[in-house]
Amino acid sequence: MAGQVPERAQVVIIGGGIVGASVAFHLTELGWTDVVLLERHTLTSGATWHAAGLVGRLRATHNMTRLAAYSADLYERLEHEMGHPTGFKKVGSVSLADNPGRMEELVRGAGMASCFDVEVEVVGVDELVERWPLLNPEGLVGGVWIPGDGQASPVDTTMALAAAAKERGARIIEGVTVERIRTVDGRAVGVDTDQGPVDAEYVVTCAGMWSHE
Ligand SMILES: Cc1cc2nc3c(=O)[nH]c(=O)nc-3n(C[C@H](O)[C@H](O)[C@H](O)COP(=O)(O)OP(=O)(O)OC[C@H]3O[C@@H](n4cnc5c(N)ncnc54)[C@H](O)[C@@H]3O)c2cc1C
Repeated sequence: MAGQVPERAQVVIIGGGIVGASVAFHLTELGWTDVVLLERHTLTSGATWHAAGLVGRLRATHNMTRLAAYSADLYERLEHEMGHPTGFKKVGSVSLADNPGRMEELVRGAGMASCFDVEVEVVGVDELVERWPLLNPEGLVGGVWIPGDGQASPVDTTMALAAAAKERGARIIEGVTVERIRTVDGRAVGVDTDQGPVDAEYVVTCAGMWSHE
């Protein structure tokens, strides 16, 4: 996905990990087509490449639970409706409690997840062993079973998001390093890259752990 750096774009996204690809996907889904993603190496070459790809729907807060449920649905939609494989396998997950406090936390989380239509079952130790026969049940109090959880390929999912964004007009350009975000009166107006400047109305930093640079 190499290409020439344009002189201007409505939106410049810095970084081609799963977050940058997702921003490009969602902007183009909203109808923003003048979107340029700049990645200094290749897509997924940052932290995304290392991820195990575990997709869990139950999170500590309402908003994170909504976001996680949305993500899992999106990975299926990308594959089945848009034809971009993400490798998502809905194998389910078990979360374990080895003390009453942890069990209470899981039960509360399960109640919250149910409010967002995330299917969750609070289960006893016997069912946990049934679900995962290699489990050592010693000291366990119980747990929750979430059938909709699973595992995706982080690389395939990023490529799927990028491909869908490209189909809708985004430009994904690899091998371009952003050296500086240009600002006027404290507002981003573009970026300087190792292949020339790009003017932009919006600059979105998705450079992960390198964002501080
Ligand atoms: C070992 C491990 C296991 C993990 N397992 C899971 C898991 O099971 N489930 C889960 O949800 N999460 C997991 N994660 C977390 C997940 O990998 C990260 O949250 C996610 O990949 C972050 O994506 P990102 O796009 O923000 O960052 P990155 O993937 O790091 O992308 C940032 C990109 O920006 C580019 N970049 C940086 N600076 C510039 C610049 N100046 N110009 C142009 N490009 C630039 C980089 O080259 C990089 O490609 C795991 C992480 C690790 C390390």
